[in-house]
Amino acid sequence: MLRFCCFPLLILKNMGYNSINLMNKIIPIEVSARHIHLSRKDLEALFGDGYQLKKIKDLTQPGDFAAEEALDVSSNGKEIENIRIVGPARKETQIELSMTDALHLGLKPEVRISGSIDGTQGIDIIGPKGGIKIQKGVIVAKRHIHCNLKEAKELGLKNKEIVSVKTEGERGLVFDNVEIRVDEKYKLVMHLDTDEGNASGINKKSKGLLIK
Ligand SMILES: [Zn+2]
Repeated sequence: MLRFCCFPLLILKNMGYNSINLMNKIIPIEVSARHIHLSRKDLEALFGDGYQLKKIKDLTQPGDFAAEEALDVSSNGKEIENIRIVGPARKETQIELSMTDALHLGLKPEVRISGSIDGTQGIDIIGPKGGIKIQKGVIVAKRHIHCNLKEAKELGLKNKEIVSVKTEGERGLVFDNVEIRVDEKYKLVMHLDTDEGNASGINKKSKGLLIK
């Protein structure tokens, strides 16, 4: 995997960086595969009353975990199977797809920050104990960087600020319109979806350079 220790210094100097501030501007990147967040009500409709999700592993943001359970979704006669559930249960059900997934399902989803689902499209979800039709909740996640207050201060970032991040490598590119999300419990990481990861040659984890 390419690291920024190999980033040609001449290029960085031309970009206005020097080796001292460079280390402070490196952002870890993770690619998020399509996934589902469920409300408690929808979880029980799909899996049965009182159902508890089984954790496979913790995710980077404290409290979030990948669950053993996965669900199928369908729209316009097309399906995507085995979409991983990310727990714990949330206030509202939300399905995060790549644009490629959405086009396959005949949807035209909104690019939104997680949790902002008013006015988004719905979908059918098929579970082991029943199916539900949600009226809203399908989004393509807006690319974003999570950071806590200390990290935000060190990077000179503010909540909801929009920045760019440059990646290296054969398919390196600059991601514009990256929204900063600051919260006490967050850990520094940029989240991309699989379309964005593939476009930039990033498989699961990588690093990028913050550009303000
Ligand atoms: Zn995220």
